[in-house]
Amino acid sequence: MTIDQCSNRKQETATPTVGNSPHPDSSTEILDTLSRPLRDLRISVTDRCNFRCTYCMPKEIFGPNFTFLPQRALLSFEEITKLVRLFARLGVTKVRLTGGEPLLRRDLWRLIEMIGTIDGIDDIALTTNGSLLTAQLAHTLKSVGLRRVTISLDSLDDEIFMRMNDVAFPVAKVLEAISYADSAGLTPVKINMVVKRGGNDQRILTMAEHFRGTPYILRFIEFMDVGNSNGWRMNDVVSAKQILSTVGQKWPLEPLLSDQRGEVATRYRYVDGQGEIGIIASVTRAFCSGCTRARLSSEGQLYTCLFAGSGSDLRTLMRNGADDEEIIDVLKNIWHVRSDRYSQLRTEATPHLPKIEMSHIGG
Ligand code: SAM
Ligand code: SF4
Ligand code: SF4
Repeated sequence: MTIDQCSNRKQETATPTVGNSPHPDSSTEILDTLSRPLRDLRISVTDRCNFRCTYCMPKEIFGPNFTFLPQRALLSFEEITKLVRLFARLGVTKVRLTGGEPLLRRDLWRLIEMIGTIDGIDDIALTTNGSLLTAQLAHTLKSVGLRRVTISLDSLDDEIFMRMNDVAFPVAKVLEAISYADSAGLTPVKINMVVKRGGNDQRILTMAEHFRGTPYILRFIEFMDVGNSNGWRMNDVVSAKQILSTVGQKWPLEPLLSDQRGEVATRYRYVDGQGEIGIIASVTRAFCSGCTRARLSSEGQLYTCLFAGSGSDLRTLMRNGADDEEIIDVLKNIWHVRSDRYSQLRTEATPHLPKIEMSHIGG
């Protein structure tokens, strides 16, 4: 088995779309300077979170004195929906709601329902820590058009998980959320585990064992140098190669073709038929060449890379009364000049460049 498949990922036959009409005329699609189309929009609906994961919102920085965005600074659901409609005209088909913790945003179901009516958007997904996901909420979200969820869980061991989320949140509650999502049909439910050396790397096999033979897809994520507050060091990164060899030695794996262009995880299946895992190797196996993602922060800044240092202010543009065609022109201009490939260019110096925090830009 090899992880070299990462750079050679091919497309499988396109997955069938659900819901709305096919994508708008391809003449409206835009390419950046590296010929990458715009396909995915990640929307951070809040910069707040009820966890303080040490690799994302360490308490020393995101403590009681940290100033989060005031309510009036956030894009309204109407503003977000308007932007998604314009993004869809430029080729976006997939929307992921994230944060911060997206389920902290009141009545999030309303936003999902609104986005679900937009022509061209055929996939709405959510990334959550699961802490606020009840059985009833999962059903509501599904009924208004949410298609699937990714739930983050870094360990099955309470002591380790609580140390990593740093608010003493128990594993059992997240496992419950996972089963609620599954029962509601928000499938396939994916599980994100950020692997940090000395934090939870000894739990890779326990996690793999727990989710083997279930419909859940466990994805191991290399600890990334997002933002400037998580004290990232290369030494703390457990590489995709190491993760694969740890799992593969116990349960042989073989590579799977990627689901679609722009997919961030490299997929592997257990040879014994017990399901699949994914590896998101942003640090050691950069996937910038297929990166079709833009990110919209909760205050309406548009970022064209997870590691961006600055964005473009769409909120002011909208609130100053720009019409649809003016906004479309701005979006086109931003994407046309895009040349981001941070992960491919990462050096010892780049982690120190000023970058937007993950909780703000949207993971
Ligand atoms: N709060 C939600 C959650 O945790 O699922 C959504 C937002 S969170 C920023 C999105 C994803 O980013 C989570 O799966 C989280 O584990 C991951 N993440 C955050 N900081 C990271 C880092 N430094 N390196 C790798 N992944 C990270
Ligand atoms: Fe919150 Fe998600 Fe960041 Fe953890 S990873 S602090 S749950 S936003
Ligand atoms: Fe995309 Fe930036 Fe990540 Fe490269 S580093 S894959 S350009 S978000």
